[in-house]
Amino acid sequence: MPELPEVETVKRGLERLIVGRTVADVSHDWPKGFPNSSNDVDAFLIGARVESVQRRGKALVITLSTEYSILIHLKMTGQLVFVPNEQHSSKSKVETPKLAADRQRSTISLHTSPDEVRFGAGHPNESLVGHLPDKSTRVVFEFVDGSHLYFNDQRKFGWVKLLPSYAVQDDPFIKKLGPEPLDTSFVNTIFVQRMRTANKRMIKAALLDQSVLAGVGNIYADESLWAARIHPTERVSAVSDDRLRVLYTELIRVLKLSIEHGGSTDKTYVNAEGESGSYTSFAQVFRREGLPCTRCGSTIEKSKVAGRGTHTCPQCQA
Ligand SMILES: [Zn+2]
Repeated sequence: MPELPEVETVKRGLERLIVGRTVADVSHDWPKGFPNSSNDVDAFLIGARVESVQRRGKALVITLSTEYSILIHLKMTGQLVFVPNEQHSSKSKVETPKLAADRQRSTISLHTSPDEVRFGAGHPNESLVGHLPDKSTRVVFEFVDGSHLYFNDQRKFGWVKLLPSYAVQDDPFIKKLGPEPLDTSFVNTIFVQRMRTANKRMIKAALLDQSVLAGVGNIYADESLWAARIHPTERVSAVSDDRLRVLYTELIRVLKLSIEHGGSTDKTYVNAEGESGSYTSFAQVFRREGLPCTRCGSTIEKSKVAGRGTHTCPQCQA
């Protein structure tokens, strides 16, 4: 599932590419994941200009000139792909998976001209670089200049919602989110306070709980706990404030490092510049079971904690 750094990568790419563009048309094949009346779509989406793109937790909020907003959650397999007007760009045509893989391996930029850039991020698969729409396409936004934004979602857990901008804060999904770890106001004392609200729980479960803090998923929970030398099954109550402050520092560090590298993935992935995301090459424990700990040489173990595959060093996190 795309986590905070991956959604932040989507947000930054779209911010650069769709702000100022006007929606000409919208189509979808997916009433459950796009539960908006055609009246609302006609009145508040068609003809609307994109004013801003923001991230809240793992969700995106696209604010429109009509005082409506589009709320998008990528969930397990969602992705957003911006394709410039194809008449102006010969390179956004069909690519074979082989060509796409070569392109990703060599991280060749997908720039088609200085201001016509194909951008894809979110769940990593061939739809990021292949011809669109394809069978995973759920919603297509067409802009007046002929460019398109595709919401693709193989497994259909994601959603796209159009709602009045004033109602975004009260949306049931947004409302239950904890604070944003990367906000400047989210200092270590706030982190300690938030974690203490989950004192009886295992610390990994607390980190993954979006109401404790927003945006952290499996990769960054494992990485930050390893860095802070805390075992994922420890109860929050058993972890001192000092150790929680270390965890805070490490969590912020791994989130920022991942954003710098365009988000993380174990598979192919294309960021705003058409380059493969590379954070997992920096991962110290995630998906490294059986390999030596980079800090002490012990063998990294994999177990299940809070229902999720969990990677730990038996020595550093004893
Ligand atoms: Zn170790």
